[in-house]
Amino acid sequence: AYRLTGKVCIITGVASKKGIGRATAFAYAHEGARHLYLLDFDGAPLPELKQALEEAYPNTKVTVAQGDAADDATIATLCKRAIEEEERLDVFFANAGIATAIPITETSPEHFMKLLRVNTLSCFIAIKHASAAMRKNKSAVGGSIIMTASVAGLKAGAGDIGYSVSKAAVNNLAQVGASQLTGTDIRVNSICPGLIETGMTTGVFDYARSKGTDGKIGQLAPLQRYAVAEEIAQVATFLACDDSSFVNGQNIVVDGGHSAS
Ligand code: NAD
Repeated sequence: AYRLTGKVCIITGVASKKGIGRATAFAYAHEGARHLYLLDFDGAPLPELKQALEEAYPNTKVTVAQGDAADDATIATLCKRAIEEEERLDVFFANAGIATAIPITETSPEHFMKLLRVNTLSCFIAIKHASAAMRKNKSAVGGSIIMTASVAGLKAGAGDIGYSVSKAAVNNLAQVGASQLTGTDIRVNSICPGLIETGMTTGVFDYARSKGTDGKIGQLAPLQRYAVAEEIAQVATFLACDDSSFVNGQNIVVDGGHSAS
């Protein structure tokens, strides 16, 4: 049986070719999602993404939109659109994010705030508007809100200070979001991926390859490899569907055991 049959889902941060958002859009369509609303700041790749999804999964409707995941009005409009067109919103995957690697002494307050805005404020805005929309579902009131945090938010070591702090706050948002939505049947969870080669980390991997050190970027996980985006997409699928119906307020670490060792 398909795990997301009939579900209406929003995913942000989908444009990047090897990214988590794109992989998750395909995973959700594969599981029978009824309608995917896909948002990215980078509009150029969106028509190709829509076409590729619709060709592979003709039963899934795909709506793409160019916009800023950290903009209150943009996300309010997108959630409202799902309710108007489909009379429901089941899943919001707040995945858009940016990463930098700048030493503390070179980090301007503006840059620090930019990371907080894109990585953290976007998740708060997702919880706010998605939960309001999910309460309006015509039947089966409730839903699943999922955010992409990072192992950088668990402890120092990966990413710069603004990135780490912005991701640590996302884990807290899962707890507070779940708690404040008591009695609504809306679940809020975050995923903490370890290092993956995506658009965000291409530079890191390319540099290491040129030096022959790509086998050991950072500290390798006990599984002795890096994840691929599809492995994060599978966890985002589990959290979106009813298999995770009692998982709430949690941060699921998907790092091959890196943070545990
Ligand atoms: P990516 O750069 O390949 O994809 C991120 C996407 O988000 C891009 O398409 C980008 O255009 C979009 N985006 C950025 N800012 C946006 C905004 N304000 N509004 C709308 N879209 C915006 O990176 P990815 O690795 O797929 O990243 C997805 C998430 O995973 C991010 O939140 C990232 O912090 C997190 N993450 C990545 C890694 C990794 O190693 N790649 C590890 C841990 C966590």
